[in-house]
Order: sequence, then structure tokens, then C-alpha cells
Amino acid sequence: MPSTGGLNAEQAQRYKRNIQLAGVGTEGQERLFRASVLQVGAGGLGSPVAFYLAAAGIGRIGLVDSDTVSLSNLQRQILHAMPDLGRPKVISAGEKLKALNPDLKLDIYQETFRRDSAADIIKNYDFIIDCTDNIPSRHIINEACLKMNKPFVYGGVLAWAGQAFTVIPGKGPCFRCIFRGEPPPDAPTTSEVGILGAVAGVIGVLQAAEALRFILGTGELLVGRILVYDALSARFCEVPVERDPACPECSGYR
Ligand SMILES: [Zn+2]
Repeated sequence: MPSTGGLNAEQAQRYKRNIQLAGVGTEGQERLFRASVLQVGAGGLGSPVAFYLAAAGIGRIGLVDSDTVSLSNLQRQILHAMPDLGRPKVISAGEKLKALNPDLKLDIYQETFRRDSAADIIKNYDFIIDCTDNIPSRHIINEACLKMNKPFVYGGVLAWAGQAFTVIPGKGPCFRCIFRGEPPPDAPTTSEVGILGAVAGVIGVLQAAEALRFILGTGELLVGRILVYDALSARFCEVPVERDPACPECSGYR
């Protein structure tokens, strides 16, 4: 019998397919239990992220979202269902995650992720996941993570395409090294040009895999490279990116 470490019999069974993985084992599973992840956004990206992290046995997840569930969300935001219409997304999401995995500890932040409270929330977590849908929130996450020396994974989706990369402060480019300034005012948004739900699924799953690999300390993260997915041609491509020594955001940090 392989050792089950500090896991009880039910946990050993529940996480069996994790534990069998090279680079995980009971030690890795216990590492996942001890880990905490903050995800900002419980919508299209946040749905697959939260499901896979909760299923994998991440010990504590923080969910930040101020929105309520609307009918047009259900085409992609698979955490939510018809009975949730009008309910806060963090409450709806929390119920699904606890039903999936009662081991999970949940921290609920039913609020907008703001610059003045961002660092205070982020400091309590090992890894941050950007599941937002707007550039100002992404800059707030980038700034707060740099300030608190926390890693995070970015994910962005629009229409038929999406992209993801990870920021490790001091080890590669930050969000602002890559996206300088605000987008042009005529830049299209999801509410104007739509989004294929499955694209949010693919990018969210990539983000969850980044968080899990970071916590397990295995594999190679998306640092210094953007992984781009085009659902129309069914292709992935990788774009190398470098730290900008003149970046107004990260040049002051190591
Ligand atoms: Zn930077």
C-alpha cells in the first residue's frame, strides 16, 4: 500500500488520480491542501478556474466578485444556473464549489476589487488568478501583486480567441511591461463582439493549471511567454515577451 500521509481514507480515494501523477504524490496533495488561491472574478474565466482548483483539493479559495448572475452569463459562466439568476455570483459559486468538495475553505468577497483594498486581500494568498474582464482591474491586480511580491496568472478572452501568461515578480515581465497604457477607446469588448464560451473554458483551465503547477513546484510556467489560443483555426501559438527595464510598474521592484 502506498503511504497516504496525513490524508484520511476518503481523501486518499478522492484525490487518487492526483496522487498517482509523477511530481504530485501524497506530499504534493498535502501541499495543495495547505495552499490558498485568490481568484478575482467568478464569471467566464472564474468558472473553470474555481471548479478545477476546488476539485484538485486546493485548501482555501478566495472569490472576489460584486456582480449578480444574469441570463446572458449562462452561455459561458458554468458555475451558475437558472435558479441563480439575480443572486450574487460569489454566493452561487460558493455553493457549487462546496457541493463539489466539502473540504474546501472559502473566503467570499462580494465587492469590487479596488486599488485601496487590493493589497490587503492579496497578502493572505499564495497565488492570485486574474479572472476579470476589464483593463483597470487587471492593472490593480498587477500593481498589488508586485507590491506584495505575489505571483499571478492573467487570462483574457474576446470573441474566438484568448491568451494567458503568468507574472512572477522579479522573474519576468509584468502585465504593464506587456500592455502599456489604456486600450484605445474604440477597442472591442466582449459585450460588443461576443465570446465563445468554450474559449473562456480553455483559457480558464490554462490558468488553473498554472496555479496548480506553481503550488506543486513542478513543470514550466508561462513566464516570459504569452500562450495564445485561436478557436477558429484550432491553433495555439506562443509569443515571447521580455521585461521592460523602463516599465513604470515593475522597474522599482528587484
Ligand atoms: Zn513591468
